[in-house]
Amino acid sequence: MKKPEDLDPKLTLRGGNSGLLINGQIYGSSESCLRKILLRAHGIEKAPDELSKYIFEIGHLNEKFFCKGLAAAGKEFIEEKPVVVPITDRVNFCGHSDVVLDSETLVYELKSVTSKHTYDKIFKKRDIRAKTQYLAQCLSYMLAFEYSLGKIAFTSYKSQNYTSKTKTHCIPYYAEVIVDIQDYLEEPSTANLNYEKTEFDLEILPSGIVAIDGEETQLHVQAVWDFQEAAAKVLEDVSIYPTRPVQASPSHWGECGFCPFKNICDRWEAKEIKTAQDFLEESRREVQSQHPTKE
Ligand code: SF4
Repeated sequence: MKKPEDLDPKLTLRGGNSGLLINGQIYGSSESCLRKILLRAHGIEKAPDELSKYIFEIGHLNEKFFCKGLAAAGKEFIEEKPVVVPITDRVNFCGHSDVVLDSETLVYELKSVTSKHTYDKIFKKRDIRAKTQYLAQCLSYMLAFEYSLGKIAFTSYKSQNYTSKTKTHCIPYYAEVIVDIQDYLEEPSTANLNYEKTEFDLEILPSGIVAIDGEETQLHVQAVWDFQEAAAKVLEDVSIYPTRPVQASPSHWGECGFCPFKNICDRWEAKEIKTAQDFLEESRREVQSQHPTKE
């Protein structure tokens, strides 16, 4: 297996950018957008804002919290296990799976829930299909390790505190969550960590059909391979994928609504930007104008 650090970033699909391709349409989040994936491969991406840094830190601590539970249960596991799998001669899939239990041929995808929207979907409605990108990510790692079993494990901390999606409300809430998890990791017996957990079981059946919580779905793993091949073609050809991801939800919560490249994509589709190289250069300028200090 090649090492992740030896790969050419311009020809690498990252696990965090997994998606599904079904009937020519991309399903996932904006992380699965093949235009954004091309930009990222060329080093063009928005620097994380303050809110994203908090969410990232909660995700990191959530992994430690989860692994503490596995260790207490006597499980043997590997955290952040790297994997590189060729998609074509030139392009590789590469990533680090959150947690892998080799003896159980099981891949864990860990998610910390930090919004009311996701909390309602996952904990109240138990609707993992609403989170296509998480499904795609877990399945991609299962295929990469050639394991048929996966689990997507969600933890929600202090969920009663979800109030608003504005920074003013979220940052103090996230800051409290970070302190509470840190306290727990240092001394569980005295910490007062308020959390809920739930898991979804995935299985790739011999037919390639994906079962969720023991029930067969209409999803076939071919959708993961088709997405990876489409991504490989975009990266090899340096081309702009013709369609946007299917909008996961309407209006401003759609995937493009938050994207720093939405003006670029509008201009591409209006044929004001005519070549892929111009798309990249305009996007680079856009990011630099939003974050002038970041290259
Ligand atoms: S605006 Fe939409 S289609 Fe364009 S790069 Fe962003 S997520 Fe992708």
